[in-house]
Amino acid sequence: MRPTGKLHLGHYTGALENWVARQNELDANGNRVYETFFLIADYHSLTTSLETADIFNFTIEMVTDWLAAGVDPENSPVFRQSQIKQHTELFLIYSMLITASRLERNPTLKDQVRDLNMEAVSYGHLGYPVLQAADILLYKGNIVPVGEDQLPHVEITREIARRFNNQYQHPHNGDVFEEPEPKITRFSRLAGLDGKTKMSKSLGNTILLSDQPDEVFSKIRKAVTDTQKIRKNDPGRPEVCTVYSYHCRFSNEELVKEIEKDCRSGALGCVACKKMCAEAISGDLAPILEKRSGFAERPEIVKEILLSGEEKAVTVAEETMKEVREAMKIG
Ligand code: SF4
Repeated sequence: MRPTGKLHLGHYTGALENWVARQNELDANGNRVYETFFLIADYHSLTTSLETADIFNFTIEMVTDWLAAGVDPENSPVFRQSQIKQHTELFLIYSMLITASRLERNPTLKDQVRDLNMEAVSYGHLGYPVLQAADILLYKGNIVPVGEDQLPHVEITREIARRFNNQYQHPHNGDVFEEPEPKITRFSRLAGLDGKTKMSKSLGNTILLSDQPDEVFSKIRKAVTDTQKIRKNDPGRPEVCTVYSYHCRFSNEELVKEIEKDCRSGALGCVACKKMCAEAISGDLAPILEKRSGFAERPEIVKEILLSGEEKAVTVAEETMKEVREAMKIG
């Protein structure tokens, strides 16, 4: 995840919640199913902004949210991409294994260019999925928990792994890389408060994980609903309403059914519906908010967690690079 500061609900439902679930998944014998690594993609953030003054503070804010949401640094190394030099080394090698035209066809890049009104794309931005492939494969990642918009990047990672294995074989181990599989959640994409398909900081349409209940309520009050439902008793169309999509994620099934029925019949007005929605979201966030305040008061703990995660990550990354260099007969 890129260090963009405090996280919003889109990050939570699209990625973080899924990460924590994978981290905590146990097999029948009570052993962890996955070994998990959580990367702060600080170099990636340069693809859309060259401003670096806030990167460190944004990293601390973001990791505070991760920890509050259940990331356990004892089990999952939490580390900055920029501190593990092997990422840039593998990125350089991978950049020779993919064509520029393949990267230009990347639909995620096209969406970003449109959403951010970008006039030109840098060489580094074009190569974003190549650096991401290095991020994943340095740790021999075989499952990548991602939002839908990142699926094309996992596909590129798979292509690069295949291309590397076809070109270079390790003298003892054969294939150096496994092709990773994406793992997406049912609620992988959360709509923005303005009704846009994606919640995004740059679009200014977010609810933060750290928002207090009154802030959540005030944001939900302004959320886009069905524009044809003007008066309380007008029949509404939940399928086009942002607030209803939040209910589907944060309210219980019974309430969702009731809201759908009452919205359609006109028995429910948007003001009351939004109030219930804000309560459901705040109820879900309450334990996160409580845990967050402990870490926010002691940022030095977050810094220590990073240093210890980086120590663990660099060991794994260097083992992989050793294999890569042996397979390539370089270095
Ligand atoms: S009643 Fe609720 S679901 Fe229906 S349009 Fe209003 S906010 Fe949306």
